[in-house]
Amino acid sequence: MSGRSIHDVLDDGALRLADRVIAWRRHLHRHPELSNREEKTAAFVAEHLRALGLDEVRTGIAGHGVVGVLRGGRPGSRTIALRADIDALPVPDRCGADFASEAVDTTYPGGPFPVSHACGHDCHTAMLMGAATVLAEARAELPGTVLFVFQPAEEGPPVTEEGGARAMVAEGAFAEPVPTMVFGMHVTPYPKGHVGYLSGNQYAASLLVRITVTGRQVHGSTPWQGIDPMPAAGAILTGIGQLYRQVSAFDPVTVTIGHIEDVGRFNIIGETVTLWGTVRCADESGMAEVRRRLATLAGHTAAAYQATARVDYLQPVPPVRNGAAWVAAGLPTFRRVVGAERVVETVPSLGYDDVSEFIDRFGGLYVTLGVQDAALDERGLPVPLAGGRGLVTNHHPGFYADDDTLVTGVRLHAHVAYDHLTGALAPDRAEAR
Ligand SMILES: [Zn+2]
Ligand SMILES: [Zn+2]
Repeated sequence: MSGRSIHDVLDDGALRLADRVIAWRRHLHRHPELSNREEKTAAFVAEHLRALGLDEVRTGIAGHGVVGVLRGGRPGSRTIALRADIDALPVPDRCGADFASEAVDTTYPGGPFPVSHACGHDCHTAMLMGAATVLAEARAELPGTVLFVFQPAEEGPPVTEEGGARAMVAEGAFAEPVPTMVFGMHVTPYPKGHVGYLSGNQYAASLLVRITVTGRQVHGSTPWQGIDPMPAAGAILTGIGQLYRQVSAFDPVTVTIGHIEDVGRFNIIGETVTLWGTVRCADESGMAEVRRRLATLAGHTAAAYQATARVDYLQPVPPVRNGAAWVAAGLPTFRRVVGAERVVETVPSLGYDDVSEFIDRFGGLYVTLGVQDAALDERGLPVPLAGGRGLVTNHHPGFYADDDTLVTGVRLHAHVAYDHLTGALAPDRAEAR
């Protein structure tokens, strides 16, 4: 490879791999698996990593997590962890592609559910398999270690189970070697091939909330002889709209009830109504106050109807925060990969990504990668491209991602990894500039 930069070599490798990466992505898209059930997905990934001859392929971490370890051929003290999430969602697939999923999980708690990669984790998984391939080919040139982290249950496991990023840390996935940087990315409804970054909190802190309103079962014709939890649940739902007036309008917060579970019948007043929702705070410091106020609202509202309410907060996820020094260190790499004009500062989001568990501990960066038929308006916000498939948000049944952008994702992973191992992409380096 004399005369050519390692970056050119990585790019050539990614381009040569394009058809295979697309094929992997389509296979994964056709065979999605829900959080903590990613058995076949993990086996597919592990088989590929073993075929690459990595130094180690660790499997069965926090359920179906897989970590591939690639030790470079040159001396170096850094370790980069490249992370892809691998789970799918209980959402029907209306992406319109001929590789759309028809999968149904009949045994998942609360199901049966249609299953699809409505968050694009099929793309993340295929891109990281691609990056593992090109970096393994270039291993002789790598001054340090690369961890390929395929993480299950990013979307949250069933509430009776552990899982996700926090569980991977707890099971020692990063005990040896300890990463000096973690890199995560997510596909989004932005113009194809655009890298979005934000210094500070890019994604929100998140909590799953479960409110169980309990009354006393009775026949629908004699409600006074029991306690109906349904109107109490309705009043709690309506009251949540007032929580926004109790926290500063300058601190973005959302409290959403997305699912209500009732055990009654049209003429039976059931014992309980359960409200399932999510709490998001752009800044984690606001979470304690929102928790307290929501618990007060639920308890006192239920009491007004002679019912009781129990509020449980589950699955806490810290915000995704990019340190300014890390961003400054990463920008030259992003600009080399996609061109300076396609590296854009994005607005913060109240979405979450539990890769924050890794980045918080070890340092690193998180970016978004645009994969849809979009353009940017004069404010820098995405708008649909004329004649395109429109803008469809993650988790929507119609969410889609462009196949041709996968190679960009492979290149991004590979360049970030190499640049970190050489020390070109490190926060101390940026401060020195
Ligand atoms: Zn998602
Ligand atoms: Zn996602």
